[in-house]
Amino acid sequence: MVELVGVQQRYGDVVALGGADLSVARGELLAIVGPSGSGKSTLLNVMGTLSRPSRGTVRIDGHDVAALSDRELSALRARTIGFVFQQFHLSPGVPALDSVADGLLYSGTPRGQRRRAAEAALREVGLGHRLLHRPHELSGGEKQRVAIARAVLGNPPLLLADEPTGALDSRAGTAVLELLHELHRAGTTVVVITHDRDIAASLPREVRLRDGRIEHDSAAGAGAAR
Ligand code: ADP
Ligand code: MG
Repeated sequence: MVELVGVQQRYGDVVALGGADLSVARGELLAIVGPSGSGKSTLLNVMGTLSRPSRGTVRIDGHDVAALSDRELSALRARTIGFVFQQFHLSPGVPALDSVADGLLYSGTPRGQRRRAAEAALREVGLGHRLLHRPHELSGGEKQRVAIARAVLGNPPLLLADEPTGALDSRAGTAVLELLHELHRAGTTVVVITHDRDIAASLPREVRLRDGRIEHDSAAGAGAAR
């Protein structure tokens, strides 16, 4: 699903990623864990094709990102990748149903169908009773579940979550993690970025970052050809 070879990301003098090699197979659930500033978000942005690396190769679902125009890249991203962020990124004042339905705005899906799909997605994340609530009327955990419903609406095979529980108390965080497990069981490839070592250790695979380098990958040496 994702293959990074020698990926480096520099911002001026800052080397945010110093040559990362990482393969993620279809259907995996893994954590990328490391302290603040270790390059986790940078890695997620590169995996999500939101930024092109300074060096190295990024393949998403078999496509070499460097070979694609910005427009082709947007199309690949739209059909392949869902994103979830720590701060939910929901527009103020917009009801949950519309926030989720708007995820299909550029897919050519008619409005009625968008709203039906959004309602189904919200029911799946346990928010069938909160369809018309606006962000300020929702708890943090509920907001994150709206964001997850939006991220998975078109059934993207890859879900990238950057500190999805970072703004939540432990109970809401547990519910969000359980939801990510469910998506994984349903076949989605899920990458969870976290600075929480307990969360990382609870997932099937753990990749540890430090100072822009992968210092440990629990899948390495497991015999799998990664
Ligand atoms: P993490 O998500 O693990 O906290 P980041 O990937 O956000 O880490 O950042 C890694 C390093 O790169 C940090 O030292 C950060 O300050 C730096 N960095 C990230 N984004 C930029 C940017 N746009 N410009 C300059 N430096 C950046
Ligand atoms: Mg970060």
